[in-house]
Amino acid sequence: MHKYLFLFFVALCLISKVLSCDNGMNPYYSTPKQVPVPLSNVTGDELAYHQKYMQAVIDFAKAQQPKALFAASIVHKNGTQIVIGMNMGRAMNDGTQHAEIVVIQKANALYGINNFTDYTLYTTGESCLMCQGAILYSGFSKVVYGTSIKTLYCDKCMSQVPIDSTFLTAYGYGLADGWVRPTIIGGVLSNITDNEVFRNYCPNGTVSIFKIHPLCVVPTNSTNSTSSSDSAASSLTFSVFTLLVFISYLFI
Ligand SMILES: [Zn+2]
Repeated sequence: MHKYLFLFFVALCLISKVLSCDNGMNPYYSTPKQVPVPLSNVTGDELAYHQKYMQAVIDFAKAQQPKALFAASIVHKNGTQIVIGMNMGRAMNDGTQHAEIVVIQKANALYGINNFTDYTLYTTGESCLMCQGAILYSGFSKVVYGTSIKTLYCDKCMSQVPIDSTFLTAYGYGLADGWVRPTIIGGVLSNITDNEVFRNYCPNGTVSIFKIHPLCVVPTNSTNSTSSSDSAASSLTFSVFTLLVFISYLFI
């Protein structure tokens, strides 16, 4: 009887160990975390270069009637901006027509481009998981955004799937052998995109289809807090099962 009890706890112990391994998200491979390149690591000349193209996207967004929130462009490495566009979800009655999708499809339709290795995509807001997926499949080597998803969701109460674009990007290795991560530079001209492009939906009384009540950890980074607490819970579970195995062994 005690022997079966012992085997039962061994099985539970192994299961808990499997559940607590890696980051709990990818069962196939341990994935290093990617974070956007901090602006402090971008040199003055390169920063000025990206600011120039981001400013063009901002100007484009502001020139629309009504003003666009999400706008994007694609720029060749020789400095040629080949397309620019905005979210067309409402105009086309198609919720998948985010700005990034619009410009990728436009570049394909106009120039037949289906591999964007030599191109950088600029967007006023960090790409959502749908657009970041399209960006990965399209082979972009660099993405530059203004306002982060975290800011839109946590600070502006704007409807978003709260997943950083770098999270999905970290798993792009499955697309091809020797795959190289696109560089993601966040926060370029965010002082403008945060304050002049995107609206704050948080104030009481604000009515909009975009308004949500964010579930954010304040004031620390919610992602780190969640992962560390998950890890602690997994370790505790493993420890409890290990203790139970030891106790059951004593009764054999
Ligand atoms: Zn999107």
